[in-house]
Amino acid sequence: MKAKYWRMVFADTFIFLLRFDTRDELLWRINDLCLYLNHYITKSGQVYKLSLSMGIYEVDGETDDIVSMADRAYIARQTIKNKGDTAWAFYDGAVRDKLLHEKEIESQMERALAEGEFIAYYQPKYSTKEQRLIGAEALVRWRRSDDVIVPPYQFVPLFERNGFINKLDRYMFELVCRQQTLWLGEGLAPVPISVNMSRMCLYDPHIVDEYIGILEESGLPAAYVKLELTESAFFENTSIMNGVIEALHKVGIKVLMDDFGTGYSSMMMLKNVDIDVLKLDKSFVDDIGDERSEKIISNIIYLAHSLQIEVTAEGVETKAQFEFLRDVGCDYIQGYYFGKPQPAEAFADLLQKETWNGSDADADTKS
Ligand code: C2E
Ligand code: CA
Ligand code: CA
Repeated sequence: MKAKYWRMVFADTFIFLLRFDTRDELLWRINDLCLYLNHYITKSGQVYKLSLSMGIYEVDGETDDIVSMADRAYIARQTIKNKGDTAWAFYDGAVRDKLLHEKEIESQMERALAEGEFIAYYQPKYSTKEQRLIGAEALVRWRRSDDVIVPPYQFVPLFERNGFINKLDRYMFELVCRQQTLWLGEGLAPVPISVNMSRMCLYDPHIVDEYIGILEESGLPAAYVKLELTESAFFENTSIMNGVIEALHKVGIKVLMDDFGTGYSSMMMLKNVDIDVLKLDKSFVDDIGDERSEKIISNIIYLAHSLQIEVTAEGVETKAQFEFLRDVGCDYIQGYYFGKPQPAEAFADLLQKETWNGSDADADTKS
């Protein structure tokens, strides 16, 4: 316990004990402290802006010892998402439960990966004009040994923080390559399947070589897999991204920009990166029916097409949304209106029913 305490007050980590009567008063004092420290002036007159990240534990009893109080403040601080901004978080029971749950997941993840508990669900994509099955997206699920299916929002954000996402994404890519090879071997006519790649993967300099190695090893033609990278990844590091896209294009792997329209400078991204398909985020699709939103959507599609980029709309749930998107020239549709993410066996049945014309391998990408 003692060692832990000293770890918590080491280097640039400090403990404050502040008196307060109400939470409001406490927050005022914290705010003052931040203002003061955020404009720290050195002897030479230089102004430093410090980003403070604070965990707050409200002492409300006399039974707590200093170590466990500091421990709880430390745990609260770990819940702050945007490290680098000044922010604070209070410790409460929910925080503790969440962290315990995350610790449990972390203790299981390696074993789960080794034992094949991570599986792919496939969500179909359809062409808007002929309403033909032209592709799918592989979405990870954790099928626990008790057969409970855990959705990605319960573990992907944690894996992005602890770095495990790189391993999981590589595994998913390998899984999809193997699955597609198997389907080809069985005489099915697979459609191209896109696999999500977390923006964290871009910081690994070997990533592209590894993905290309996986593809080559599987023997699958490159036209059967694509990669989806979220828009924020493009924004964070355009030059790395361009290198990655160029290398992927060289071997014939197409790149989709996921969640388009959710970042600050979506349009700039179109200017700077050579993507094949733009995935219009569900938040736009949800606003169909509103005149201004509809104008924005049709102009995004117009702009994308003028740059030879095709557009897939995601999260399409209703006939009205589908018809609007068809009428403004959106190329492809993904959403519950046409089909939910489904296990491999169900998707294989769909493939059997809706045979893809293999001559059109670039169906949902620019030619
Ligand atoms: P995403 O890549 O934007 O995936 C689309 C999400 O929207 C999927 O949720 C899908 O099930 C859901 N969706 C599709 N159509 C509809 C619809 O019509 N209505 C509604 N309400 N939702 C729809 P899912 O499978 O829960 O995945 C959530 C997110 O988790 C994904 O968002 C992606 O960011 C992440 N994710 C999933 N699989 C992977 C993976 O293998 N690697 C990485 N890095 N992230 C993944
Ligand atoms: Ca995606
Ligand atoms: Ca998306």
